[in-house]
Amino acid sequence: MTFNALMVTKDDESGKTSAAITEITEDQLPAGDVTVAVEYTTVNYKDGLCVGPGGGLVRNYPHIPGIDFAGTVEASDDDRYKPGDKVVLTGWRVGEAHWGGYAQKARVKADWLVPLPDGLSTAQAMAVGTAGFTSMLSVMALEDQGIKDGPVLVTGAAGGVGSVAVALLASLGHQVAGVTGRPETADYLTSLGATQIVAREELAETVKRPLEGETWGGCVDAVGGAMLARVLGQMQYGASVAAVGLAGGAALPATVIPFLLRGVNILGIDSVMQPYDNRVRAWDRIAKDLPMDKLDAMVQPATLSDLPKLGADILKGQVKGRVVVDVNA
Ligand code: NDP
Repeated sequence: MTFNALMVTKDDESGKTSAAITEITEDQLPAGDVTVAVEYTTVNYKDGLCVGPGGGLVRNYPHIPGIDFAGTVEASDDDRYKPGDKVVLTGWRVGEAHWGGYAQKARVKADWLVPLPDGLSTAQAMAVGTAGFTSMLSVMALEDQGIKDGPVLVTGAAGGVGSVAVALLASLGHQVAGVTGRPETADYLTSLGATQIVAREELAETVKRPLEGETWGGCVDAVGGAMLARVLGQMQYGASVAAVGLAGGAALPATVIPFLLRGVNILGIDSVMQPYDNRVRAWDRIAKDLPMDKLDAMVQPATLSDLPKLGADILKGQVKGRVVVDVNA
């Protein structure tokens, strides 16, 4: 029995990579304890890199990208899972070093899976996906340090991480300020619960004074670079920034002053190597705290054949919210 996968191949001579829908069989899947009938996967920033020319983070060819997926267990050699169980996967270099979710079937290690929490469908789990899971990890890290009164800033607000962070923080009762370079997304961000929209240009200038007014009670930062450096000097005394991403650049042109004189914390967030218990805790909180109507508003549906274009779009910062790919459509 064949099934469809979006396969990335590399031409040995030119070094060029290309992605195409290909029919494969189950015996081609990599080794693993659990075979999953994939139902939904998504488009994250890393997927854009892996599907695009150059292959991004892909470690072996041919490769099936897709850093997350949700579906139903078809076969299992591990006592924790049995056929029919609903599961979700994020991280563990799946879609980079091990074939991922851009296929109708995947075979992975049981340790990498999490049972789908009650109250969440496989489609909803992928509306959240790695981006939303990382937003939840960020909120949990900020809560551990204590979120101050006053608005919590979310950068890259109209993107995947940003949209879920805005909705989560608002549903937890925080004032939320969303930074966006797309003014046309203001109504969308307000509908997710943002109480203030900050234009990207306002935070785009490089740091002139290492400290500005104490403004933000916390921050989920998906952008990094010069914007993160600027935000550090605007944090309230003792407030924390969950540093998630680098959509705006990897260099951090900051001074140490916000750390020395304001006790600001940067909390590094890594969704890839999260231990099982943390992943379960985060998914349970997502099911409990994320309003599903807000989640619906973020979703753009797609199919496997849409992936190359959507991968290019996300790298240009042009995807709004979350893309949910029905691999069987
Ligand atoms: P998206 O592309 O969906 O969102 C990124 C957003 O950042 C864009 O929508 C845009 O928001 C803003 N942006 C893009 N380019 C720039 C720029 N040059 N300057 C300022 N803002 C910019 O990506 P995701 O939300 O999926 O991921 C965001 C980042 O987080 C990526 O770097 C990704 O790799 C990282 N990430 C890290 C994880 C971890 O485990 N640490 C897990 C998941 C993601 P707007 O239009 O509103 O300005």
